[in-house]
Amino acid sequence: MGALDSFYDEESECPKCNAKIKNDWQTKDLYSLMEHWRKGDWVQYRKLEAIPEDERKRKYGDLEFAPSLQTSKEYLSDAPLLFNGKVPVHTSCRNCNAWLEAYAKVLDGRFVGVVEAEANAKPKEFVLIKLETNAETLRQEFQRKLSKVQATCKHKETKWMLMEWAPGHFYGRGLVCLRCEKIIKTRGLPETKSRPKLRGPPAEVLIRRSRNKRLKGPVRRSSRTKAARDMVFFRQAFSPTGTTSDELRRELKKGRAQDRKREQTLERRYS
Ligand SMILES: [Zn+2]
Ligand SMILES: [Zn+2]
Repeated sequence: MGALDSFYDEESECPKCNAKIKNDWQTKDLYSLMEHWRKGDWVQYRKLEAIPEDERKRKYGDLEFAPSLQTSKEYLSDAPLLFNGKVPVHTSCRNCNAWLEAYAKVLDGRFVGVVEAEANAKPKEFVLIKLETNAETLRQEFQRKLSKVQATCKHKETKWMLMEWAPGHFYGRGLVCLRCEKIIKTRGLPETKSRPKLRGPPAEVLIRRSRNKRLKGPVRRSSRTKAARDMVFFRQAFSPTGTTSDELRRELKKGRAQDRKREQTLERRYS
């Protein structure tokens, strides 16, 4: 037994006798730092920390060469060792003693399970899956990273901003985190004659729109109806504009004052 890294998948099976594999699947294809991953774990090494002296006493007594370090919950890096791929692993079946070769599958940086187990086969080759890069995969990656930032952000600095469903068409205000841009709270704009209140949340309006193209209402900007495009449109539509309501009010006031002036000038000239 060396210092191999290992994966554990309680659902993995021996292909020869179909017994569940309850022991670890080991690999020598990573850095062999005795790390242990379970399904769903981020495939990265965890930092080591000193074991508190009293805990060490309780666990090991006066044992010589007792370990002084243990793995912490913190990872060495935000990035996984690999994003998508298959790491060769091996073990032996405790039921039929067969030597087993398999893969630990990694998707989006997480260990998802042991696959392609074979008895008495040759060790497998490391596989890195390179995903095609296009606008959609970049968008997904950005979305994944952003949601990670948003999930851990404390939203310390926030600001009420106007939100628009099309450029210049505001549907409400949102309390937006200035760091991660998460919309924490929303409020509608005050109802006026020229701007009737939207019924229901914006998402509902969009969904109704895609089911019924002739629907009259505020969300009628384009004829794009595909779900994927709707999501793009939705993101564009319901992102904060960066303008505060105060700023907008000032701009509107200025614009109206100019309009009035122009009208008065015209009246004077033609009356
Ligand atoms: Zn077996
Ligand atoms: Zn935030």
